[in-house]
Amino acid sequence: MSNDSGGDLFSLCRRRGFVWPSFELYGGVAGMYDYGPLGSNMRNNIVEVWRDIYRGREGFIEIDSETVNPREVFKASGHVDEFADLVTYCKGCEAASRADHLVKEFFDNPDVLTPKELDEAFVKFKVKCPECGGDLGPVEEFNLMFKTAIGPGSSRVGYLRPETAQGIFVNYLNLYRYNREKLPLGVIQTGRGYRNEIAPRQGMIRMREFNMMEVELFVDPADKGWIRFPEIENDPITLVPNTGTETVTMTVGEAVEKGIIANKVLAYFVYTTQQFLTRLGIDPKRLRFRQHLRDEMAHYAMDCWDAEVLLSYGWIEITGIADRGCWDLSRHAEFSGTDLTHFKKFDEPKEMEIDKVKAKHKALGPKFKEKAKAIAEIMETKLPSDVRDGKLALDLEDNEIVLDGEFFEVVKVREKVSGERVVPHVIEPSHGLDRIFYSVLEHSFAYDKENDYTVLRLAPEVAPIKAGIFPLMEKDGMDALAMDIYKKVHSPSTEAYYDGSGTIGRRYARMDEVGTPWCITVDYESLDGPLKGTVTIRDRDTAAQKRIPADSVPDILRLLLSGRQFDSL
Ligand code: AMP
Repeated sequence: MSNDSGGDLFSLCRRRGFVWPSFELYGGVAGMYDYGPLGSNMRNNIVEVWRDIYRGREGFIEIDSETVNPREVFKASGHVDEFADLVTYCKGCEAASRADHLVKEFFDNPDVLTPKELDEAFVKFKVKCPECGGDLGPVEEFNLMFKTAIGPGSSRVGYLRPETAQGIFVNYLNLYRYNREKLPLGVIQTGRGYRNEIAPRQGMIRMREFNMMEVELFVDPADKGWIRFPEIENDPITLVPNTGTETVTMTVGEAVEKGIIANKVLAYFVYTTQQFLTRLGIDPKRLRFRQHLRDEMAHYAMDCWDAEVLLSYGWIEITGIADRGCWDLSRHAEFSGTDLTHFKKFDEPKEMEIDKVKAKHKALGPKFKEKAKAIAEIMETKLPSDVRDGKLALDLEDNEIVLDGEFFEVVKVREKVSGERVVPHVIEPSHGLDRIFYSVLEHSFAYDKENDYTVLRLAPEVAPIKAGIFPLMEKDGMDALAMDIYKKVHSPSTEAYYDGSGTIGRRYARMDEVGTPWCITVDYESLDGPLKGTVTIRDRDTAAQKRIPADSVPDILRLLLSGRQFDSL
């Protein structure tokens, strides 16, 4: 996590307790980081902004599902078979490298290359092991999921989840019922994801255990509008459509009209991502939305956009926003044998031609005798989608019986129906919390080389400490008043920091370096004379100072935190 832009952000992160490499005591493990006190605080603040948007403004619901999942979940999702990167091992030192990363400079989109094409590229471009310069071995697939066993022995294979999304999909029925069987249904989840990355070398950009904030919005496939779309359709957004490599700025409405973003609901959440990231302090000039190329998109994705930010590492994806169509629910329905549809009621019953399961009484009678009538009745309650591989399973007196096509048929009938079953489509904004955290730090980091002075210009709602509270000196009652203010201000959501040691300039510098937006100082004038009962408040970004009544500090900080400008105090 080096940083070339002036001072060293990584050393600041370690020194001041934002982030520490994990297990340093035992030599560390690549791609693993722990959050220190300031880092945890700031990370929680980012999550709160995300909650404010999705739970607060949009009214979505939040869940918290298991991180260890049985194999069936990831078999259905495709991760067991598909979630792999391509690895090559050095024939000399045996170091593992991600094969596509070794040919980045020769291809625009190296992650679509096959193992054979990569082997050939190594020869053609004389690519060697980045560790020792040795020859590279054949490229092979490496599944990124951490495998484990659930319970003793190896009776049940499990995996640490590589994304939080599946926990939402497998709970679809519970969530749908909770939502009183209505769409749209918006669900959010934050938590850990695990990916056994081959060779993580980019600090918090590529971690083996990382934090995600995922949003799954289930919508009626025929209705991809969004109620609040008109509020934002005239706002600008910076896009890199997959028809070229050009960056274009246009309104959200135009992007949909011109068919650049597939539909209004996806466009709304691309824009919501822009609102979220800029509210956190991501520099809008270093933010763009890049559309996946056709061959880069997952085969089921109908459209997919990455929010990319410009960092010292180059342009990095920090959020992906995809229209995943009906893929997720269709797969879990198929693999679990459970109906995961939405019943869409028509305004008026309609006469429609529909498929129905019909019993073949002539075949059932001789075979099942007195039970034939009951079987036929149960059979005709089944849906055509319940027929799997030409067979229909049903429960009769607590026994499952499986019948083949000799006993039933699927026929077309015209009927008055009150609605139809549809598989909801999913719109997914998937945020990498650690990448966002790191990007916010990099975009807020300002280093003045001449004065060797660092300021983290963090948005107040993101800053881990909201106010530094200082007595000019720890004597004559200034310390007691400062401590009294500290106690009134400090809470887990409005972290304050009492500091009575060192010069006042040094104390301001310590707070500027960790992004504390305001500092309060109690001086001799606070105790006596015409300014008795007042303290100074200093603004981090302008270093401007004002005097305010000591007993108004909690209220003034609350006002500032809700967006009031310092100048207007
Ligand atoms: P994906 O499911 O691959 O689209 O990932 C969703 C988001 O998770 C990405 O936009 C990244 O911000 C983040 N992410 C993915 N892999 C990692 C990783 N190894 N370390 C940190 N963040 C990651």
